[in-house]
Amino acid sequence: MNKNIMLMAGPTALPEREIKAMDRQVIFHRSQEFEDITKELNENLKKVFKTKQDVMVLTGSGTAAMEATIQNCFSPGDEVVAVVIGVFSKRMADMAEVYGLNVIRVEKPNGEVALVEDVLEKMTDKTKGVFVVHNESATGVTSDIQAFGDALKDTNALLCVDTVSGIGALDFAFDDWHVDVVFASSQKALMGAPGTAVICLSEKAWEATKTSKFPKFYLDLTLARDFGVKGQHPWTPAVFSIIGLNESVKMICEEGIDNVIARNTELSDMTVKGLAKLGIHLFAKDPIYASKSVNTFYYEKSPQFVAKLKEEFGIEIYNGQADLHDTTFRVGTMGYVAKTDIAAFLYAAEQVVKELEAEE
Ligand SMILES: *Cc1c(COP(=O)(O)O)cnc(C)c1O
Repeated sequence: MNKNIMLMAGPTALPEREIKAMDRQVIFHRSQEFEDITKELNENLKKVFKTKQDVMVLTGSGTAAMEATIQNCFSPGDEVVAVVIGVFSKRMADMAEVYGLNVIRVEKPNGEVALVEDVLEKMTDKTKGVFVVHNESATGVTSDIQAFGDALKDTNALLCVDTVSGIGALDFAFDDWHVDVVFASSQKALMGAPGTAVICLSEKAWEATKTSKFPKFYLDLTLARDFGVKGQHPWTPAVFSIIGLNESVKMICEEGIDNVIARNTELSDMTVKGLAKLGIHLFAKDPIYASKSVNTFYYEKSPQFVAKLKEEFGIEIYNGQADLHDTTFRVGTMGYVAKTDIAAFLYAAEQVVKELEAEE
């Protein structure tokens, strides 16, 4: 018998409290009860995002929020600079091209981040937006969003940030860092069930929505905000996902967002140090930028390592993504993860590495 331990890059494990909250009869989304849940969630999300702005919950995954960003804040032909450092940041650049934006890419090899200077170099006086991924889950690197915010705050460009696997595990301060648009999914560091995304806009971004010329309907953010402040959603939302997310975000607020970040950092450091003893090291080129939520390691026997951990110990981690599948593995320390989980993982990792080395 194995007891499952999930150290996932998303979706992440659900706390029992959240599973219990979702185990119920369906609820009418215009009822007082659901209105109260929506209001509570929206208020708590402000604490997590460290913002005074409204945070909106959309039905759809993080990619829907990515699309909402483009539809609501830009117009056909707008020039944007997009950081491309892995498959998720590439997705946003590709999507912007599908929408007919003029996308200038700042590309870096796997395992590296783009720096502010790299982006400033490509910007012109026509640049309307800069797209940066906070935590590139495919390669395990984290961008310095605060530095981007400082550099862009007095320009005309909107700083649009994908923090799908960042917020809830890594430090993020929407207002203080001068971010203009940020979005995340329910199912990563926020510990929610899949099905919803969260998004937040600055005053500058709301101004941009007024002149945006893309057609928008299902993901119209002005509509989402107008309904959201009343505890409502424009359409039938993913009710169960919202009930689950409300519970997990409540847990984050009870622990305190800064304590959650500190716990995640501790778990990440424990993982990195433990694996280093086995001769396995971070994939990130510079450890300063190594992700502490989707910890990514270089190991030639990664696929066998991942498979054996699951088979022999019931421990679930992720293979590397895309072209990194065979040479890296990813350990999620975000969400519902405790020190005992990492201790078990490190013990199992040691056994599995020994077995794999004995096979040679
Ligand atoms: C998971 C992920 C996405 C995609 O989110 P979905 O919820 O699967 O649509 C986008 N960006 C990053 C950085 C991610 O980790």
